[in-house]
Amino acid sequence: MPLSRRSLIARAAQLGVATGVAELVAMLEAVHAAPQDRGPPVPSKPILTISPHVFMIEARDGFPTPENLGLMSNVIFVAGQRGTVVVDSGASVQIAEMAIRQWKAFRNQPVIAVINTHYHGDHWLGNQAFTAEWGPELPIYAHAGTREAIAGAVGIFWRDAMERWTNDATAGTRIVAPQKDIDHGFEMSLGDVTLRIHHYGKAHTPNDLCVEVVEDGVMCVGDVLMDRRIANMEDGSYPGTFETIDMLTANSRTKIWAPGHGDAGPQVVTWQRELFEGIWQSCVKAIEEGVPLDGALAYALKDPRVSSRAAETKGWDRNIGKYVSIAYLEAEQAQF
Ligand SMILES: [Zn+2]
Repeated sequence: MPLSRRSLIARAAQLGVATGVAELVAMLEAVHAAPQDRGPPVPSKPILTISPHVFMIEARDGFPTPENLGLMSNVIFVAGQRGTVVVDSGASVQIAEMAIRQWKAFRNQPVIAVINTHYHGDHWLGNQAFTAEWGPELPIYAHAGTREAIAGAVGIFWRDAMERWTNDATAGTRIVAPQKDIDHGFEMSLGDVTLRIHHYGKAHTPNDLCVEVVEDGVMCVGDVLMDRRIANMEDGSYPGTFETIDMLTANSRTKIWAPGHGDAGPQVVTWQRELFEGIWQSCVKAIEEGVPLDGALAYALKDPRVSSRAAETKGWDRNIGKYVSIAYLEAEQAQF
């Protein structure tokens, strides 16, 4: 009879004391593989048409909860004559299974590659379902730094955190790391449509990839831009984000910005840039005047580019102070 999750954890703890780390790791993996502890299926969400070749399952919520089962980031499909490429695979095996189910019903065309835009777990924890469906050889592309993070401690952190945040709704999700490194300038033709990769250094993380769907004028930006959600900037850079936005704008003919969270549309780039400029310039001003962090936050909250976003932005109250403080620290380091 299979062991329960609880008894596996208890035994893992005993083993950790009695024997060694290798046994502990093996037991913890068994906990994650235990099928009886798999989280429930995710209810189907519609596939939205963004452009002739770009389609999206949109997550309405900005953050993972037990109620939304972790569905908090968009899964994007780029469909051409040669097959479909998925940009970001969702936050769990169950979410990706839903996305695959929906894609097969919408257009029964095989997925021939997955691209992970960066290493935050809501953008790659679904990889497992795509390799289960289309085989372990299915190419999963990412920046080398993203691959290394997912294959290491960062990957484990995200898988475990997602389980915790969803009260185990994502249980059963295994880490399937990207195995193909790509970088700025990489192109992939799907016959009638071309994917082009952009990377301009640290923005939301050190290793973000943006995926341009050239013929459609669509830019899949991962979390470099967001629509009415505050980005997690703990791994990012404000000036780096401005630089990336400038380069993406200069080096593409983007009409529609497709973010990892929120709606796709022409407005996303302005929405994000103005909010970040309001935060960043308030911090620079505070530091130039010798004003401490509290004062910088007050400046930012008074800035119309910031205050006008408060009501419509998911996670505002919990995060605005944190992300102003990150900008303040970065501005302080830039100064000295
Ligand atoms: Zn992210």
